Amino acid sequence: NEESHGEIRQRHRRAIDEATAEITFGAWIDGETRSASTGETFRTTDPVIDETIAEVPRCTSEDIETAVDAAQSSFKGEWSDLGVTERSALLNEWADELSAHRDTLGLLESLDTGKPLEYAKEEIDGAVAFLSYYADIARSHGGKQIPVDGDSLVYTQREPYGVCGQITPWNFPLYLLSWKVGPALATGNTVVIKPAELTPLTALYAAQLSEGILPDGVLNVVPGYGEEAGAPLTEHEDVRKLAFTGEDLTGETIMKAAAANITPVTLELGGKSPMIVFPDADVETAAEAAADGIFYNTGQACDAASRILLHEDIKEEFTEAFLDHAADYTVGDPLEEGTMMGPLAHQGQYEKVTDYIELGTEEGATVLTGGSAPDDPDLEDGWFIEPTIFDDVSNDMRIAQEEIFGPVECLLTFSDYDEAIEMANDIEYGLAGYVITENASLAHQAASDIEAGLIAVNKYPGDDLGVPFGGYKRSGIGRECAEETLDHYTQTKTVNMRLDEPEL
Ligand code: NAD
Repeated sequence: NEESHGEIRQRHRRAIDEATAEITFGAWIDGETRSASTGETFRTTDPVIDETIAEVPRCTSEDIETAVDAAQSSFKGEWSDLGVTERSALLNEWADELSAHRDTLGLLESLDTGKPLEYAKEEIDGAVAFLSYYADIARSHGGKQIPVDGDSLVYTQREPYGVCGQITPWNFPLYLLSWKVGPALATGNTVVIKPAELTPLTALYAAQLSEGILPDGVLNVVPGYGEEAGAPLTEHEDVRKLAFTGEDLTGETIMKAAAANITPVTLELGGKSPMIVFPDADVETAAEAAADGIFYNTGQACDAASRILLHEDIKEEFTEAFLDHAADYTVGDPLEEGTMMGPLAHQGQYEKVTDYIELGTEEGATVLTGGSAPDDPDLEDGWFIEPTIFDDVSNDMRIAQEEIFGPVECLLTFSDYDEAIEMANDIEYGLAGYVITENASLAHQAASDIEAGLIAVNKYPGDDLGVPFGGYKRSGIGRECAEETLDHYTQTKTVNMRLDEPEL
């Protein structure tokens, strides 16, 4: 099928030209596009055809230094001089600008990550919505008055930290940027953010779109590798607050760096979230939630439902329905309408996922479907993998304990409630837990017993404005997407004032 094979390549080359034609992907520092101080670049590639999309500055500590200085000056100057309403208005204006460039941003995101174009555009909408959400709620985020004995007036006010250092992963690039930049800027901080080296394009373009809206130095986007650009950002003593999304081991390193300067840090880390399917579950609801829970974004989601715990009475019926859903999960070119699952985002991830599939078989699990690249010559240049389901998994296997971050599901079986909860919690992570049952009381009981920051009943939820998102245990510290996020980006100042008798 040489012809259509070539067709995909041509389609992607045209799309790359279209998406990148008018953009220079520089670092965005102090309100202008810059090269790295070393002049070096790295390339970011399209995982469907494994070709370069763009060359991007390979920034290092020197660039971080410049960016932190710029952020520091704007924090001490123009940005702090603005009132909360003015800041909110500017943030909303930037969000509108991103919305106006939805098509280009969506296309860039799809090309850089391999996610279906339509989903990528929805993520741009999501990023816009989160920026506006934070702009809106920041206006009513304040301190309180505290009653005390004696003639004193005691109140608190919430003040920004200053320069925030933020580091994001490659699975939802612009979307997760909005979760970090939104609350930081809305509360009056300034930002230096390092996007993932694998998918930096939308962050860089979005920053350029802030030109003429956000004052210079308020938002700085510095692309580069973790150790070269990320580490100096986490170690910088003028960075007063750190926020990170990524793997738990990287989170550990960042927390250690933060400790040296006593910098507060919020972490959104990995997961291995259980979905418990009770015997009374509606099988169709369960199968659909399970499929979305592990195949959406090619399984590269931190809250993926990557362990399905099935009651033995429902196992057969569920498995049949789930296999049907897996078969219907269309794998293909992300630029083609109707594609539900694109490739993994890069070669390293492909190798990691295929290694885990091999490991699962070695550990004694059974591949029910998938397990390899799709048998489609059109897709052979990309990092595609079929929806994969392992049966006969026990909770102590590595494929059940470790985050695979691919479209690979593990089916486990239980026979009573206590066993289900024990298995669900026998894991070092605690990001999400899913419960499938028609019995409301059982759902609430399980929601209370599962150790996780987010419980969803009868669905794989997606994120909503205002709904706290974050993990227990090794899945992280802090909550994003919600009002309490603003607390992470502000510190409390207490004012305690003696009230004298009026001498009039
Ligand atoms: P990663 O930890 O490899 O990289 C994340 C970011 O950290 C990148 O920008 C990278 O350059 C940077 N980095 C790497 N080493 C660094 C260092 N020493 N100092 C500073 N920065 C460094 O993670 P990833 O592979 O990009 O992302 C996947 C992971 O992210 C998964 O574990 C996933 O579960 C997690 N994730 C969590 C959430 C959440 O909200 N909980 C959301 C999305 C992804």
